Parts: sequence; C-alpha cells; structure tokens
Amino acid sequence: MKQRFEIAPLIVESENLTKVQLNKLIKDHLPEVKISNIQQSRQKSFTLYSIDVKSFNCLLNDLTAIIQTNTNQQVVIYIPKSIQRILDNNKEAYVKQIDLEITEDEIKQVLEEQGYKAEKITRLVNKDNEPLKTIKITFINAYNRDLFVKLGLQIDSMHFSAEPAKYNNKPAQCFKCFKFGHIAKYCKAEKQICSRCAEENHTHINCPNLQGSPVCRNCKGGHTATSTECSKYKEFQQKIQKTIDQYSSTSKVARTPAPNNNWNNLEEFPQLKSIDNINLIEKITEQIISAVEQATQRIFETLNKKFQTLANKLGFDIEIDAEAELEETVRIKNNINKNLGQTSPRNELYETNNNQNETPGIGIKRKDISPNILSQKSKNLNTNQSL
Ligand SMILES: [Zn+2]
Ligand SMILES: [Zn+2]
Ligand SMILES: [Zn+2]
Repeated sequence: MKQRFEIAPLIVESENLTKVQLNKLIKDHLPEVKISNIQQSRQKSFTLYSIDVKSFNCLLNDLTAIIQTNTNQQVVIYIPKSIQRILDNNKEAYVKQIDLEITEDEIKQVLEEQGYKAEKITRLVNKDNEPLKTIKITFINAYNRDLFVKLGLQIDSMHFSAEPAKYNNKPAQCFKCFKFGHIAKYCKAEKQICSRCAEENHTHINCPNLQGSPVCRNCKGGHTATSTECSKYKEFQQKIQKTIDQYSSTSKVARTPAPNNNWNNLEEFPQLKSIDNINLIEKITEQIISAVEQATQRIFETLNKKFQTLANKLGFDIEIDAEAELEETVRIKNNINKNLGQTSPRNELYETNNNQNETPGIGIKRKDISPNILSQKSKNLNTNQSL
C-alpha cells in the first residue's frame, strides 16, 4: 500500500563517520533499502530520506547494530522530534462526554470487538486528580485512529463522537534568550534577556525601561519578544504548520493521489461535500427530465409526421406543427415519381423550390409550414398524382 503521508526522515548521529562510509555500510548490509539522499546536517549528524516505509523501518531497526559492529562506535538513530510529535499526534483521539460509569476496560473491550488496535486508553483527570468526562485513546497507527474518528465510539446503543488530537503549531520559545526553536533548559546564551526592552541581565518584571515602548528581541519591532504579532514568531509558526501539513494524517492539504485506491481505506476516497451532492443530484435529475422530454418529443414528431403523410396521401387539409421527417417525405416522393415513371435521386433531399414543377412542396426541407402551404401542397400532390 502506498503511504498516505510523507515518510519521516531519520537522523543518524555517530562519533566519527563520513557520508561515504555511511552510504557504503547501507549498500553492503542493507541492499534492499532505498534512500533518496543522505544529507550531512551538522558535524557527526546525517539525515536519511527513505523512499518507502519498508526502507524506513529497516533503517530504524537495523542500522544502529550494523554501524556499531562494523565501525565499533556509538550511534543513535531517531526521527526528528518535531516530526515525531506529529506522528504521535496522528495516533491519538479524544472522546468527550463519556459518562463516568463507563470504565477504560469496557472501552478497551468494545474497541477490540470492533477490530480496532488501541495501545492505551486513559480517562483524563483535573488538577485535583478527579476523573473528567474525556477519554484519550492512543491507537497503534494513524489508520486505526482516522477510522475511529470518522465512525466515533459505539458502546451498545450509545454513540460518542470522537475527534483527532490537535496539532500544536506554536513555536517553542526560550525564556532566557527569547529566541525560537529551543527552551531555556537547553539555552546556550549566557545572559538573561529582557522580553520587554531586549536589554541584558534583567527580566520584564524588573525592567527599568517600562516608560518607553517595548522592543522585540527577535525583530526589533515595537512589541514584546513574546508577542504573537512578531514576524519571527509567525515565520516559525508557518514552518511548523508546513511540517504538520506534511506529516499529519488528517491534514487538509492536497496530496498527490495514490495511483491504486485501497477500497478498504475510507481515507483514500474523496469526500463530496453535501452541497456538491445536492448539485450532482439536481444535475442528474435535470438530464433525465431533458432526455425523457426529448424522447417524448421525438415520438410525437414521428407520429405527427406519419399522420401528416397519411393525410397528404388521402388529401386531407391538416395542420402540421413539427418539421417533417425528410426520409419519409423522400420515400413518398419516390413512390409518386415511380407512379409517374420518373426517378428521384436522393440528393434532392435538401433542394429547394427549383423544380417546383415536378413535385412541389415535397422534397423540400420544410421549416415553417403554414396550413395554407400544406393545403396547397396537398392539392399539388393530387394534381401531380392525377397526371
Ligand atoms: Zn535561549
Ligand atoms: Zn527590560
Ligand atoms: Zn518581534
């Protein structure tokens, strides 16, 4: 099955390994693994981009041991934390308003019976450790989670709607240096920066510059460093959102459609909006009505022509309201000509009144036939016939 969302890259950190060595180790020991690129991100750190899920799993499970045995050095392989968080989110669902009498074990049993593979079911608690009505369910993968969110939780005759875990696009901000992308625990800055005036060695609480307007540490703008209006903040937020769109299973961002639809996988089918459905039904109905109308019209026209032809033959004076069936007309004309001992080639079909002397009115493409012309034609016909 083609994966529905992008495969996460893998970070390989080792003591002393070159890109070429890493490439050779993979080539020699994991020949089936397909990698589009090995990127050196930092010193001693490489990013591997697997082409398929199988290759990704293979690298994650086997590469550590291969590097350790063959180069005798320590190595760590992991998914970047920002992506790992999204992948974890992909497996989580929340069900609200679950009555306190319903236990986690009951839900676990129900989910098993319904074929879901859940890893963990937890009832949330408040800060006083009192149980809340919300249940958090962690499934083994995004597919189980996505299906569950679509269908909701059914316990006997009770239905509870489910929702996916929310993805957090809020950038991490350090409360020591106020830069984005790390927290104070891992900050390498030596001095505390003020979030209000951007100067060193004090915090906003004891800021001596409260009189003047704030100065942002990151963009030098007229706001505090913690403001969500900051262009740097927005820049980081957009970056995180892009990663969420790339790796979240429920992202609304359009992806390249899989060439083979898995008919068991509801996620792969486009969902028509209800308004689209209504429009579609209206369109089909219109087309059916139009087709029926056209068919009915044709039947009436044919009947009308046959009746008219018959009337012509009998010399009645009848009004015709539809265009005559030319084939029929020509046939009659031919019959008449035959009677008269003449031949009438078919290409006379669209000729106009040029040879009116012969068979006036007939053999002409009639558009608007008035009763007068018709009666005239009938008379002529009779005249011709009588010849
Ligand atoms: Zn910092
Ligand atoms: Zn300050
Ligand atoms: Zn700013």
